[in-house]
Amino acid sequence: MAEATPAGSPPPVPAPSPAAAAAAPIAPPPEPVRRKIKEVEAMVADAIAETDDTTTLVLFTGNDTLEYKPGHFLTIDPHQFAALDRWLRFLEDQKGKRESPRAYSLASAPHEKYLAITVKEEYYVSGQTKYPPLLSPTLVKRTPRGTKMTITGFTGAYFLPPDIESHTDHLVHICAGSGMVPNWSIIKHAFATGLKLRHTVIYSNKTWDDIIYRRDLDDLQRKYPEQLRVVHTLTRDSVGIRASQGVRHGRISLELLKEVVPDPSAVRVYTCGPAIGVWDRQAAKAKGEQPAPRFLEAVLGCLEQLGVQKQQIRHESYG
Ligand SMILES: Cc1cc2nc3c(=O)[nH]c(=O)nc-3n(C[C@H](O)[C@H](O)[C@H](O)COP(=O)(O)OP(=O)(O)OC[C@H]3O[C@@H](n4cnc5c(N)ncnc54)[C@H](O)[C@@H]3O)c2cc1C
Repeated sequence: MAEATPAGSPPPVPAPSPAAAAAAPIAPPPEPVRRKIKEVEAMVADAIAETDDTTTLVLFTGNDTLEYKPGHFLTIDPHQFAALDRWLRFLEDQKGKRESPRAYSLASAPHEKYLAITVKEEYYVSGQTKYPPLLSPTLVKRTPRGTKMTITGFTGAYFLPPDIESHTDHLVHICAGSGMVPNWSIIKHAFATGLKLRHTVIYSNKTWDDIIYRRDLDDLQRKYPEQLRVVHTLTRDSVGIRASQGVRHGRISLELLKEVVPDPSAVRVYTCGPAIGVWDRQAAKAKGEQPAPRFLEAVLGCLEQLGVQKQQIRHESYG
């Protein structure tokens, strides 16, 4: 991703006034942690083509401070786009239910001035896909600068906790396709805030041209050669001359993980990508079969064999 979200200073945290502190000799009980999900009006400030089918939308939301953690996602309700009206009515008739908001991980990090999401277009494959995808083609190809939209956020269990350094000094990111988005936020945040962490990124894509944030990852790796290692693995492209740069061919395997994660008991893993979804389950059931494991199930299986414990792993499914 080109420098989509210029870094801004973190907002100052207001300190309690001395008068208020003096008037309250007994400390009040700690405030319950409130979820701050809210609707926010946003305007597309930039639309950056990352690859042929993936666009980063940089969102201007005014000057309010928006609180989120690296790895969180927002949601976008497709009903707000007039151009989708016919599609919505047709799909809702066919499916017999209202279309729900779609989730998008934040590509931006909390220290950055603008929000950003990176959306990969889903395709309709004749004879294979039951319905055409609804929202992603519009966000990727038909949401120019100046488009206004309502976003809702921010939430999710896939985030970098503030005390991460007390658990590990080595984060392993295992991602496929747009599953890189929340990890990109986590990585940027970790470097921008000076966290003492090493990062190993194992990133699976079909082809070299499908890799999202490729140049940004390269730049960051050059800047922090001791702290960031990126291993690309391509399932469709032959690797050719790129093998000498460490690019691999094939899916993420136990062998690859053994090689690049020599310290499995010490790491924390963030893995994100396609997983068995509700439609896969339905299709498999109709055939009397079990759904075939997808990226996430395969990675979790390898991690188990590697001896990484469940509590060391956070995972998020886009399936
Ligand atoms: C937490 C989270 C974070 C995410 N973050 C990102 C992100 O950062 N970037 C990103 O690109 N995506 C992300 N996603 C995925 C995103 O939410 C959407 O699922 C994706 O953009 C596709 O939406 P769509 O409206 O284009 O397609 P949909 O209309 O949702 O269709 C998707 C697929 O499901 C099939 N389908 C739909 N309904 C049925 C049905 N009834 N029966 C059978 N098949 C059906 C369609 O044919 C199509 O292939 C995230 C998902 C989650 C859960």
